[in-house]
Parts: sequence; structure tokens; C-alpha cells
Amino acid sequence: MLTTNWHTHTKRCGHAVGEEEEYVVSAIHAGLKTLGFSEHAAYPVPDPTEHMPVEEINEYFRTVRSLKEKYKDQIDIHLGMEVEYYPDQWELLSRYRKETDYCILGQHSLTFRGKSSYRLKTPEHLKEYADKIEEACRHGLCDMIAHPDVALYSYPVIDDAVIYTAERLAEISLRYDIPLELNAGSGVQRGLVLYDDGPRYPYPVRAFFEVFAKHQCKIVPGLDIHDPNNFFTDKWLDRAFEVVEGLSCNIIEDYDIITPAKKRKQYFR
Ligand SMILES: [Zn+2]
Ligand SMILES: [Zn+2]
Repeated sequence: MLTTNWHTHTKRCGHAVGEEEEYVVSAIHAGLKTLGFSEHAAYPVPDPTEHMPVEEINEYFRTVRSLKEKYKDQIDIHLGMEVEYYPDQWELLSRYRKETDYCILGQHSLTFRGKSSYRLKTPEHLKEYADKIEEACRHGLCDMIAHPDVALYSYPVIDDAVIYTAERLAEISLRYDIPLELNAGSGVQRGLVLYDDGPRYPYPVRAFFEVFAKHQCKIVPGLDIHDPNNFFTDKWLDRAFEVVEGLSCNIIEDYDIITPAKKRKQYFR
């Protein structure tokens, strides 16, 4: 059971259930001490099943801030957002960076409305994916790299390009001191999938974490929760941990994301 979770969604994104307060109440009952909301960032083009609508941004901010106050004696609540690095949306992303306590990077597409990271099948795609993550970190946009291995969702086989990508992400993580997430969300919830070289979860992917363990990158478990009831089960988290079993990963369960986020945010004044 985790007592800290920085990766939390709400029904605002269109593919989760439950209001903010339901997540807070469930998290308290499940024994969490720290809860960070990281709703999928809103962009100007409506995307009702993937992202929160732009019109709800202020309401999201207000709601999380008021819950933070209301439940302050029971749980530490923080306002965050899960963003993508899209250079053509930089003005909006900068605003989110300024107005939230922290940001996590979930690079779900290579470009705004472009190729989905769930559909990458070539070494060139992986390179482009790692390039985006590097740019995001270099610009101080994020404080954690969510599901770094989402790029392997459709990737057919663990080849040299996969290992090279893991090496690059490890290097980025160390250079910018940004942790990589061990994600307990839809990758493990989907179950084992048969790839060209055998069955595995779409993510997390052990080959990535072998490299992350070798370099002792900071690894933070994240529930990537889309249903408040999932606070009451360890089933998905256990699966994620099974993927990295036996590896000497540098796992930090009670990671403080807020202190480094404050420093990075200074560049966005
Ligand atoms: Zn989601
Ligand atoms: Zn997420």
C-alpha cells in the first residue's frame, strides 16, 4: 500500500469516474497521507475522452485548493497536472506550470494531435519520443516522467533501440534529477499481451527498469488512478512491482515532488 500518490485523475478527463472529493475521501480511508491530483492537461482543441476541457481548468484548480484546506488535518493534498511536451502549446503549458504545485510528464503523443505514443513501432519513433522527454526536462516543465515506457505499448520486440531509449531516459533522469514512474495504471490493468518476443504487460516494461536500476535512477511508484475504489486494492500495484522483482531499483515510495517543483517553477515567473 502506498501512502503517497502523485498520479491521480478525476472524471474531468472523460475516461475516469469520480469527483475530486471522492478521491480524497477514499484516499483517506485507504490510509494515504499525501495525495497529488494530476489531471490530464486541457488544450484548446476539445478532446473529451482524453483531456479535461479548457473551460474546467479554473474549476479544477479551485476544487483541489478548497479540498486541500477542508481536509488539511487528514491528508496533504497538492494541485498538479499531467502534461505533454507540445512546443506549440508552450504558452498554455507555462500557465499550468505557474499555477499548479507540480507537473508530471505523460508524453501520450509525439506532437499535439499527432502520432500517439501507444502506436510507436520503429526505432525512429522511440528516438522522437525520447527527444520530446529530453526537451520537456531541459525546459523544466516536469517533476516526474510518468510511465516512461508507454512508448513500448505497441513496440513489437525488445531490441537494441529499446535499450538505447532506456539508456537515454536514464541519463535524462539523472542529469535533471527527475524521477521515472513505475506505473500501476492501464498498462498492467490491461493484462499480459503477446508481443513478437513473448508476453509482457504493455507497461511497465522490465527491460527499461533493468537499465534504470543499473544507473540507480529515482523510481517513484504511481497509481495513475482513474477510479477512487482503486485506492482499496493493491492488485495493480503488485503487478507493477512484480515486473521489477529482483532488480535493485532505487524506489522511493514517499518521494517529495513539491520541493524540487518549487525550484523548477522559478523559471516560469
Ligand atoms: Zn488517463
Ligand atoms: Zn495519468
